Amino acid sequence: LAKDKGKNNFQIYSSSLNIATYKAFSIESSLRNAIKNDEFILHFQPRVEAGTGKIVSAEALIRWNHPTWGLISPGEFIPIAEKSDLILDIGDWVLIKVCNYINEWKKRDAPLVPISINISAKRFLKNDWVINIIDFIEETHTDPRLLEFEITESTLIKHEEVVESAIDSLKKIGIRFALDDFGTGYSSLTYLNRFAIDTIKIDKSFIQKISKSDSDKIITKSIIFLARGLKMRVVAEGVETPEQLVFLQKLGCEEIQGFLFSKPVPEKEFQSLLKKETLKPSKYHSQSEAIA
Ligand code: C2E
Ligand code: MG
Ligand code: MG
Ligand code: MG
Repeated sequence: LAKDKGKNNFQIYSSSLNIATYKAFSIESSLRNAIKNDEFILHFQPRVEAGTGKIVSAEALIRWNHPTWGLISPGEFIPIAEKSDLILDIGDWVLIKVCNYINEWKKRDAPLVPISINISAKRFLKNDWVINIIDFIEETHTDPRLLEFEITESTLIKHEEVVESAIDSLKKIGIRFALDDFGTGYSSLTYLNRFAIDTIKIDKSFIQKISKSDSDKIITKSIIFLARGLKMRVVAEGVETPEQLVFLQKLGCEEIQGFLFSKPVPEKEFQSLLKKETLKPSKYHSQSEAIA
């Protein structure tokens, strides 16, 4: 009997492995058609001033609205896209879409804040990328001061020289740079000096443990102190509770991004948030995101 049970367990295990492999494979093949079929959408998550709740900017976050699987989070398909050049097409789509929105809002005289975009490490390996971006921004008359590019520590480490010169060229035209998920990578603190980074985003894994773990409290405190000393803007990601907010306010963290103020929302909803100008912290309750 025990033997039978073991056998069954093995079968379940092996078939779920197959399902995972099959899923990754079918995600990749469907991803190839997603842009063409217009299946991606952008959501926007406000970043607010810690003391006042005033919306100061927002992060554009991609979602995939698959015709049969429904809404798929970037955590599921971005890593797969990163394995091929698909991530470059997706990155282009996001940049074009964000510039279109910015220009449309400007034209409509709608409220406007800078928008942050996540940039894949692979981007920096294409020589003509920077030139293409500068051309595109000029052609579309997009205000580059309304764009911030988020990169991670691993991007800095992987391609030091190209990233350094790309940042310098893009900063010259007014694009800002943020270091995303800070504290989770393996970069040295001297990187903060070497690269012309404007903003540090403290990773949510620290924020979500600050009330329970003294070491995460100290790390968060030190990152804020360091950022302020280096005259960089500092943002706490993943703020979900009033206690986390109070702690971060006390430490002088300038900006907050998290479900406590708003989840990432579709464009229409984002525009109505912007009309309010300031957001109130509201008790975070888990619910799936609405789709436009
Ligand atoms: P990220 O750039 O660090 O984005 C922040 C993530 O934290 C978002 O997840 C956001 O929904 C989530 N978040 C914000 N506040 C809270 C909170 O209070 N609690 C919790 N639990 N989560 C919070 P999302 O949208 O699922 O994106 C996941 C990651 O996928 C992003 O992490 C980014 O690395 C990647 N990604 C998203 N959009 C793009 C894109 O357009 N291009 C690229 N290359 N990557 C993207
Ligand atoms: Mg980000
Ligand atoms: Mg992050
Ligand atoms: Mg990330």
